[in-house]
Amino acid sequence: MKIISREGWNARRPASTVYRITWAQRTEFYVHHTAGPRGQSIRSIQDFHIDDNGWSDVGYNFLVDEDGVIYEGRGWLAVGAHCPNHNRSGISAAFIGKNNPTPAALRSIRWLYEESCRRAGRKLLRRGHGQSFPTSCPGPRLQSWLNAGMPIDDEPAPKPAPPIKIIMKGGVPQWPGRLLMVDEPMMFGEDIRLWQERLKTRGWNIDVDSWYGPESRTVCRGYQRATGLPENGRVDKATWDMTWSWRPPQTSPEASADR
Ligand SMILES: [Zn+2]
Repeated sequence: MKIISREGWNARRPASTVYRITWAQRTEFYVHHTAGPRGQSIRSIQDFHIDDNGWSDVGYNFLVDEDGVIYEGRGWLAVGAHCPNHNRSGISAAFIGKNNPTPAALRSIRWLYEESCRRAGRKLLRRGHGQSFPTSCPGPRLQSWLNAGMPIDDEPAPKPAPPIKIIMKGGVPQWPGRLLMVDEPMMFGEDIRLWQERLKTRGWNIDVDSWYGPESRTVCRGYQRATGLPENGRVDKATWDMTWSWRPPQTSPEASADR
């Protein structure tokens, strides 16, 4: 697989020292998306990371475009700026786009993963950015592809999610009986979408993407804290029911008369 070198995409010199590590220190392989448009130039991403974020260089070790072309970012053994606390242990590949990876891009990311394992001399843990940091990166499609084991011959976005049957009662969806929590593979489904949507309409800052990742857990904890539930970051029956039944105090007199 051909990698376009930094000279090849007209990279700037790093603005400050980029530190180096050894393969012995690498244990993880991170997948990201840039969350920008497909076809964005590597140089403009580097400029943004240096000039706006104040980083020493483009944050990722490698970048991959929609045609599967691989670009050298910081390279194999540089400490990155892509996931707090995992920039030394984790090497990173970013798809240039936003939740719309192409089969060609998946093939190249898979190749980067295998080449990283080969160079490290052992299997690296495959991770999506959102599995280690509260972010929706790398988007549900890349995350589900990671969960499915990075298949490269099938459709770009396998959806392994089991269908979840939601029963409505008086216009309120009933708890479907599974505990929503951060898990591996990441949980996905209609129940999660409904829960996220409900919280969003009630003013909570949450992405309605049907995935229960660290971001959902953070919101869940905040919600449990606000409503006096045990703060465990999991949507259990009590949390689910509260999401639909809870009203701010001092509402209608009927609500207090019910007690
Ligand atoms: Zn990311």
